[in-house]
Amino acid sequence: MASNIKIPINPGRTGWKEILPTRTVNQNLLDNINADYLIIGGGFAGLSAARRLNQIDASAKIVLVEACEIGEGPAGRNSGFMIDLPHNLASDDYLGSLEKDREQTLINRSAIEFAKRASEEYEMPAEAIQLVGKTNAAASKKGMKFNTDYAKHLDKTSEAYKMLDAQEMKSLTGTDYYINGLWTPGTAMLQPALYIQSLADGISKKSNVVIYENSPVIALEDEGRHDGLKIWKAKTNYGSISSPKIILAVNGIVERFGYFKNSLMTIFTYSSLTRELTLDESNSLGGSPEWGLTSADAMGSSVRRISGIGGDRILVRNRWSYNPSMEAKDSFMSAAANSHNESFKARFPILKKMSMEYSWGGRLCLSLNNVFAQGEVDEGVYSACCQNGLGTAKGTAIGIITAEKISDEKNSLIPNFKDEESPKKLMPKPLMWVGVSSYVLWKEFMAGKEK
Ligand SMILES: Cc1cc2nc3c(=O)[nH]c(=O)nc-3n(C[C@H](O)[C@H](O)[C@H](O)COP(=O)(O)OP(=O)(O)OC[C@H]3O[C@@H](n4cnc5c(N)ncnc54)[C@H](O)[C@@H]3O)c2cc1C
Repeated sequence: MASNIKIPINPGRTGWKEILPTRTVNQNLLDNINADYLIIGGGFAGLSAARRLNQIDASAKIVLVEACEIGEGPAGRNSGFMIDLPHNLASDDYLGSLEKDREQTLINRSAIEFAKRASEEYEMPAEAIQLVGKTNAAASKKGMKFNTDYAKHLDKTSEAYKMLDAQEMKSLTGTDYYINGLWTPGTAMLQPALYIQSLADGISKKSNVVIYENSPVIALEDEGRHDGLKIWKAKTNYGSISSPKIILAVNGIVERFGYFKNSLMTIFTYSSLTRELTLDESNSLGGSPEWGLTSADAMGSSVRRISGIGGDRILVRNRWSYNPSMEAKDSFMSAAANSHNESFKARFPILKKMSMEYSWGGRLCLSLNNVFAQGEVDEGVYSACCQNGLGTAKGTAIGIITAEKISDEKNSLIPNFKDEESPKKLMPKPLMWVGVSSYVLWKEFMAGKEK
């Protein structure tokens, strides 16, 4: 039972959503209703769970409630790399053990396949999800060494890749900032707000799922038993939903529901998106109109060029902050925006007059041992949380897995998933704050030219 659940503020306006045409937002919950299944949270995990539950039982009454507008939360704030390969942010080079990495790759690929099928079924614009791969970019010798080591790891797992030299990186991006790149083919590139909104709208139109937006669940209460099942009542500001089966797809906010207390870390990272490039700017920069770079160093900058619905623009994502309060202070936001400007200028000196039109931040949830916060946490209540940074793929996967668990479906779309250990307990918050914040600052400093 939980009450007075506070929803943290999402800092800044997410450019991904702002550059899209206005969308019709689903209704706010104003009544007291019943559902066979209630999903709380409309990000990758929640919406994937809704779609999977409907596939399993098309006649079930499924309700999904989202605290804000779909696409306004972290799911519409990320950089859109839906990566198939291991991407462990806590390691220097994203990698873990070979066996664990092989398992994770299969899981991520099943999630990408699920997302791709959804995009076809719901006739999403092509830009919502494109299977074009991504490049791990290196601007320094140290970064290049990360790429070489990553390639050796890929050799051992028989994964395809292509090494790009400085000239090829310039042909791709228009800048000579990068000296090396490692292209891998299996990443799906998302326009995250477009994908997540199209997913929600497709689910609403083509299935038996009812979505309420701007309807934060502020309390979850035990309503007694009915037909042998425990019934839960989720209260919003103006209504409620009673259901025996609940999926919590709220990422780190699951702690505020009383589960996984002191086991999850809320980390923020930040992005800025330029205004549209003029035709002259675009011509003088050269390169391809669309590309996506993650950094060879896990603490470096992700950089993307897009040229879809919102025009020709460049995105920079960097900086991390550990915020146990789940709120990022304005000072973090402005420091990150300054850092984006510096990283942009260093990479694109030719675009001297360019300015950032949008800057924003968003929450990620990490556990010390890099595991999900998942499974049945109370009678009929299942958690599908803690994606450890790769929430586009892993959030989709845990949403599917949780829908299958709660409905007792034996035929899994993610057959490789094995239940993991629980997230490890954290040290007391002040100690964690000092430890993680110093670690992040040190690693960012060490990222040097990759930042
Ligand atoms: C700037 C940035 C860049 C990133 N880049 C990438 C990337 O390139 N690739 C990648 O894989 N990941 C990336 N991430 C991480 C990724 O966005 C998250 O891991 C992912 O969104 C997690 O998905 P989720 O569905 O589990 O949770 P969320 O997307 O956080 O969705 C949970 C939803 O639950 C809602 N909610 C919470 N509490 C309640 C409540 N009480 N009632 C109703 N609704 C509630 C929230 O409003 C939220 O919309 C990035 C994140 C940020 C911030």
